[in-house]
Amino acid sequence: MDTLNHTHAPGARSWLASANTAGADFPIQNLPFSVFRRAGSQEAFRGGVAIGDQVVDLAALSRAGLLKGSAASAAQACSGPALNEFFALGPAAWQALRYGLFALLESTASQTTSEAVRNCLVPQRDVEYTVPARIGDYTDFYTSIHHALNVGKLFRPEDPITPNFRWIPTAYHGRASSIRISGQVYRRPMGQSMAPGATAPAYGPCARLDYELELGMFIGPGNAQGEQIRMDDAEAHIFGICLLNDWSARDIQFWEMAPLGPFLGKNFATTISPWIVTLEALAPYRQAWDRPADEPQPLAYLESAANRASGALDIQLEVWLETAALRDHVLAAERLSRTSFRHQYWTVAQMVAQHTVGGCNLQPGDLLGSGTISGPTETEAGAIIELTRGGREPLTLSNGEKRAFLEDGDAVIFRGWCEEPGHARIGFGENRGLVLPAIGR
Ligand code: MN
Repeated sequence: MDTLNHTHAPGARSWLASANTAGADFPIQNLPFSVFRRAGSQEAFRGGVAIGDQVVDLAALSRAGLLKGSAASAAQACSGPALNEFFALGPAAWQALRYGLFALLESTASQTTSEAVRNCLVPQRDVEYTVPARIGDYTDFYTSIHHALNVGKLFRPEDPITPNFRWIPTAYHGRASSIRISGQVYRRPMGQSMAPGATAPAYGPCARLDYELELGMFIGPGNAQGEQIRMDDAEAHIFGICLLNDWSARDIQFWEMAPLGPFLGKNFATTISPWIVTLEALAPYRQAWDRPADEPQPLAYLESAANRASGALDIQLEVWLETAALRDHVLAAERLSRTSFRHQYWTVAQMVAQHTVGGCNLQPGDLLGSGTISGPTETEAGAIIELTRGGREPLTLSNGEKRAFLEDGDAVIFRGWCEEPGHARIGFGENRGLVLPAIGR
């Protein structure tokens, strides 16, 4: 359980002015991690931490010798092109590096220190990012009851939710190879689908392309095969959280998914945001987690006092759409929905506990998707299939364009942040992906 400490102090400031701007995503209280290099260069990718509009180059900082002890060894573990080794070190090392970076970046640092750190900064506008870890396995959960109800009602109005939803934080095993960083451009998938009333499936480009608003959790130390991660330890195995888009080909998905679950409807692309916000940075935005009395209560192995007290995370999330026409006319993207992660039926700790209860081993750098995040009201839906009721009620944009599902040239943008009086704003940055016309037949 993360408790508040000096790195959460709302009054803390950095000597770097851009970190102190009101509404900035990356103040000194955030310090999220990525893997980056100068855009278009042949430099090696290495770990970085966001501060204001800059990236602290952790490889350069490590060479400069400004950190000591376990903070220095943690920074060394971030010097390569993937953060797996750092994730494996666990919460004490993560916190040592956070404390070390905070001290170097705080406005009270000496001029000698700030000048030395300045030499390790790279402007964010000059960098490109890559997937921050070797993701051995990717599992995508299904943990929003509002999403499950909205989608279930379209296909089984009399019985929208399968009975297991309320007992199991369920998931499918996704595909790690097609996960890319924000800015991903991919071609509309081809596949089989069965049109309503048809007697045989047809092969062609996906006609019902969708996004799913999700969070991605990067796994820390993990567990040995045959061991369980219990609820009380679960959060010590989550390094941090990014924005995740589980692109979904609904027509392909719904024809193929019975009885084994999604396959080609999901495996062609998944986009994650470059910045991983640590669980420790999110500590001020924890909330009590509750299961209403008229719902089944979790089995004992999915319960803990800490999860009840503060297992929910109040992360604000938005979906924006930028069509090719909007782009051509230099018009802004339009917001499709907004919600919070706090409405989720199952917490991140419950996802980790469930994943390992049978002895499955999680490894450093594994990625867990939260499942689509939809809130309780219609405007809080995290997928277009919900907003358009299965495509039957297309959205109309301000320029007159209509969308039942995504069209070629559409870019989908997610934004996330935490903000509330008395605490520093913690931003996630942006997750953006673009759909191109279908691959050849
Ligand atoms: Mn999903």
